[in-house]
Amino acid sequence: MTSGKQTKYIFVTGGVISGLGKGITSASIGYLLKSRGYKVTIQKFDPYINIDPGTMSPYQHGEVFVLEDGTECDLDLGHYERFIDEHMSGLNNTTTGKVYYEVISRERRGDYLGATVQVIPHITDEIKRRIAAVNAEHQYDIVICEIGGTVGDIEGLPFFEAARQFRFEAGRGNCLNVHLTLVPFIPSSGEIKTKPTQHSVMTLREIGILPDILLCRTTQHLTEDVRKKIALFCNVAPNAVIEAIDAPTIYEIPLIYDQQGLGNLITDLLELPKHKPDLKQLEAFVERVKNPKNSVRIAICGKYTQLHDAYKSIVESFVHAGVENDTHVEISWIEAEQFGKNGESEKLVNQIDGLLIPGGFGDRGIEGKIEAIRIAREKKIPFFGICLGLQCAVIEYARNVCGLTGANSTEFDQDTPYPVIDLMEEQKRISTKGGTMRLGAYSAELTEKSQAQKIYGKKQISERHRHRFEVNNQFLPILTKAGLRIGAINNDLNLVEMIELPQHPWFVGCQFHPELKSRIGKAHPLFREFVKAALSYHHTKSSTAERTANNDSRQD
Ligand code: GLN
Repeated sequence: MTSGKQTKYIFVTGGVISGLGKGITSASIGYLLKSRGYKVTIQKFDPYINIDPGTMSPYQHGEVFVLEDGTECDLDLGHYERFIDEHMSGLNNTTTGKVYYEVISRERRGDYLGATVQVIPHITDEIKRRIAAVNAEHQYDIVICEIGGTVGDIEGLPFFEAARQFRFEAGRGNCLNVHLTLVPFIPSSGEIKTKPTQHSVMTLREIGILPDILLCRTTQHLTEDVRKKIALFCNVAPNAVIEAIDAPTIYEIPLIYDQQGLGNLITDLLELPKHKPDLKQLEAFVERVKNPKNSVRIAICGKYTQLHDAYKSIVESFVHAGVENDTHVEISWIEAEQFGKNGESEKLVNQIDGLLIPGGFGDRGIEGKIEAIRIAREKKIPFFGICLGLQCAVIEYARNVCGLTGANSTEFDQDTPYPVIDLMEEQKRISTKGGTMRLGAYSAELTEKSQAQKIYGKKQISERHRHRFEVNNQFLPILTKAGLRIGAINNDLNLVEMIELPQHPWFVGCQFHPELKSRIGKAHPLFREFVKAALSYHHTKSSTAERTANNDSRQD
């Protein structure tokens, strides 16, 4: 498709309130265009001053998504990668912090000698440079640019101004604005209200941006009259008022948009040839999400369970893995800090078919996680430990199987007699916090005849990392002698990448984050096999319960 032609740009903005789903919308638009054979990428502009979300609490920001190149970025990049199935790079996420950092560094170098450095033109020029820079490595047909926040936010203004200028310079037919807005339903009067949308379009127009397409988030279907009214007052064509109704699964959103003609409308407005989309794979996927044959309950025991966005990619990985097992994965959230404190732990664990301990930082809830792992190991409940989850599993094994009382990670106890998890050598010299962990893609060799090798079906893997601590190699002889198997190793750095227990049906830990690479129709093998193991545990549990019930009734 690409032939040195003009790249087209789509700006996705949001109005009325935040949290309407601009990320999923941008990803869905990307899906519709890719399914028409166009080469697409998506970038996110975040108006906060942090360089990246790596130093923010998950409660502030949700999950930190990590890219192949080690960029720590917004969780929307996760939606983009999952939907359009392309690796993104650091060029795909710009923050106010990155923009100012660059401009101020240039000013100090003397690049602007003689000038007063200002928001307009210096900051907006740097934003425009970044809008186009994503195209430097690959020439895309279409670049989708999502502007974070809501129109009218003070901190977002330079991004909107840059988008306005960019559009003016690119010219008609090369650039368009899709505005995501809210059309609330007022139950007491039974009416749908269009005024908030009119106001948000007014704010957009004040900035000099005329929307081309309005995506209206709504809980009710929009009548023809409502569509016409929005079109008339907001200055868009009636067929460009698209209903964005609440969907049973986010993966259905591209289909809902396309049924209303969004894909063709965009290619028309961008003066691109009309292609028929290939949506069969997505339709089949959605069908399977909506009609599972089985169900399993998997517990996620972590520290940020109040905010499910903190584990976004894990939750989505379970959807992908569930589809490949025709199984609905019901997630049961366990607050790690409370676990084991109220005497309910065994009962709770009896109700689940699998336990996942996700990544995390700091010592809050650690003892609860270790206790949950002990029960899963002893009761042979499928267990999957990710990053901190692997580290907790090693601590548990060291304490309860190897008899190393007080074993711990030096992250939680500097004076532990058995530092089975310790800071990497190169980390000991680092004192700054932003972007200084072991980040991004690293390859690893899978151990011959290990469960890990069976799961992946290959010898070498590459997975994404985000951590400072590692399994301490000094303790490997004692751990492996007691039955722990090393499933994968990074030979270059001599680091443990995976662990497993051969005497357990499914007990796997990985130092990396597999959830960052699961995609629609391509579930990550570790999640796929974990759900399969949970399903088989579920079936065994049910048939044992049935047998016991039958025996009991015979005795009656
Ligand atoms: N806190 C641990 C470390 O830094 C684990 C990090 C994680 O789970 N992502 O190594």
